[in-house]
Amino acid sequence: MEATIVSVGNELLSGQTLNSNLTYIAERLQSLGIFVREAYTIKDDESLIHKALSNVETPLVLFTGGLGPTRDDMTKESICRYYDLPLVKHEPTLEKIEKYFARSGRTMRKTNIKQAFFPDGADILVNNVGTAPGMILSIEDKTIVTLPGPPKEMMSMFEEVEKHLKPFGDADFYRDGFRLVGRGESELEADLEDFYPAHPEVEIASYANLGEIKYLFIAKDESKLEAALADFKRRMKKYIVGSFDETLEGNVVGALKAQGKVVSFAESCTGGMLTSRLVDVPGASSVMKESYILYSNEAKNRQLGVSPKLLEEYGAVSDQAVYEMAYRLGKKTSADLSISVSGIAGPKGGSEDKPVGTVYFGVHAGGVTKTFHRVFSGDRSMIRQRAVVHALYLLYKALVPDED
Ligand code: ATP
Ligand code: MG
Repeated sequence: MEATIVSVGNELLSGQTLNSNLTYIAERLQSLGIFVREAYTIKDDESLIHKALSNVETPLVLFTGGLGPTRDDMTKESICRYYDLPLVKHEPTLEKIEKYFARSGRTMRKTNIKQAFFPDGADILVNNVGTAPGMILSIEDKTIVTLPGPPKEMMSMFEEVEKHLKPFGDADFYRDGFRLVGRGESELEADLEDFYPAHPEVEIASYANLGEIKYLFIAKDESKLEAALADFKRRMKKYIVGSFDETLEGNVVGALKAQGKVVSFAESCTGGMLTSRLVDVPGASSVMKESYILYSNEAKNRQLGVSPKLLEEYGAVSDQAVYEMAYRLGKKTSADLSISVSGIAGPKGGSEDKPVGTVYFGVHAGGVTKTFHRVFSGDRSMIRQRAVVHALYLLYKALVPDED
């Protein structure tokens, strides 16, 4: 089955808001076996909503945005006028909205009442995060879904949407995949040159994003999918940090928890981003011991006792510096794993033997200190993000070593 997504909102076309609902919905639909054929991004304008509806060729259409109480929010009303469907008051929804306001100690405005009106026969999608409910409506040969614009509200309804849409999915297909770190996309593609022809009945797509590369495998035949996954795993195990739907930081936290270990970071060029990314994972408090942002040489010396002479002689971006930082961090914090990061994020500060993008990493675990270094491409922000991903990769591999 194919679907169309219509994103409604002036803010999406004035450069104010990135249309993240589109990518979120497209990915969730694909996991159900529903593939997005077309997407429209339009202003809050009835004639544009009607134009989109008359163009849509797929049996399933999902709208986001324009369900709010104000006059410029008109998605639901426009859809109903297009099909000449009257809107009727839905009492349970009105009560829910009233309760929502009572709970947050605000008075409900008259304009919110319109949010409780739906065409007869529509399935209402309850909004537990805001006031705009969504709906699923079957009309003529179409199924139309409306979802609120704010991503949190839209996402909170998606599980319910999935329940309704499951029967539309291509049931006879299987999907799975991997998340990789530690090797560039073009290098991986070169490694896989003879892999693709060996699995002609498996559709394989790769997505690269700042140091992480995801591979998604889709097949009609489960055993063909399994065979391709096993072959891929055998070749790429060094770089695999999880399955397609997992996150690197989530898997690091999971591995730390499972092993009852705690971690400490000494961050220079990443300036706290590494800690922040780990702490993004719920439950990180049980594995995150302590972190230092040691941007200056003076701080590296004062907090960890790294000798000024060593920093002078080899530089703060060096094997020797990250070795000392990780080793001393381990001693100071008694963490099971201690990671240090120091690099040149640019745009200035590079040299011939240490160009911009050079980042050194130290990993101290089980009484052993190892160092690594990489040269990342991109601008300052990309280099820092790639360094964070690589540090998490080294941490993950220290926790979950490859089998052989
Ligand atoms: P409400 O007004 O009750 O919050 P709504 O459905 O009317 O709900 P909108 O007014 O259209 O929502 O959008 C509210 C905010 O949600 C926008 O200002 C924008 O920040 C965000 N938003 C809307 N559409 C998208 C989208 N496609 N992707 C990401 N964010 C979006
Ligand atoms: Mg809007």
